[in-house]
Amino acid sequence: MNRRDELALNLEEVRRRVDSACVAAGRPPEDVEIITVTKTWPASDIEILAQLGVQEIGESRDQEARLKFEQLSSLGLRWHFIGQFQTNKANRIAQYADVVHSIDRLNAADSLARAAIHADRIITALVQVSLDQTPTAGRGGATSEDYLKVAEAIAQSSHLRLGGVMAVAPLGDSPDVAFGRLEELVAKFQLEFPESTMVSAGMSEDLVEAVAHGATHLRIGSAIMGSRSYVQ
Ligand SMILES: *Cc1c(COP(=O)(O)O)cnc(C)c1O
Repeated sequence: MNRRDELALNLEEVRRRVDSACVAAGRPPEDVEIITVTKTWPASDIEILAQLGVQEIGESRDQEARLKFEQLSSLGLRWHFIGQFQTNKANRIAQYADVVHSIDRLNAADSLARAAIHADRIITALVQVSLDQTPTAGRGGATSEDYLKVAEAIAQSSHLRLGGVMAVAPLGDSPDVAFGRLEELVAKFQLEFPESTMVSAGMSEDLVEAVAHGATHLRIGSAIMGSRSYVQ
């Protein structure tokens, strides 16, 4: 099978899985958007995805993302930056990212806020929250003590728009339990920030649980692109 047919088939299959997860959760399928995570895959794949109607692209490494963006800037895609980043990368990320999902501490919020002003762009920023029961154990994210402060810093910035919350299910934990915790946290968050309705949660392996617990944006890599040949 050629790459175009393979990607088309995978996209269809993932959309079917998402739609049936929505039906099972009693949610309208159009409430859940798929971001295709293309890290480690070439720009030529993203061109094919664009021809197949994909607009939302997720990347997690600045250097790789920026090279692809520069090659493909004429396609008018929306670029989601989903990886951890050092504050010294904020100026570069602000030049191409439309949405940054991974703001997990105050200095990341502050550096992106300054970078967005410098780039003269309005960027949607999400607070990444930790779902680990023992903080610092795992996959990044602000703790339940910190995330509202990080959100406040984003909300007060002139060039960042607070989109909502992002989370990664901890390794070795049940995604259902982890995303149940996320759902409670989002309920509290939305009392403070009712307009920030994005919930970025769910990857190839746990998208059904994420949809059941209120995800609005899924970040899907391998189920669409195939298995990555190296781990990031
Ligand atoms: C790689 C990555 C994904 C996609 O993971 P898959 O399991 O390939 O779907 C989602 N979110 C983040 C933060 C990632 O780094």
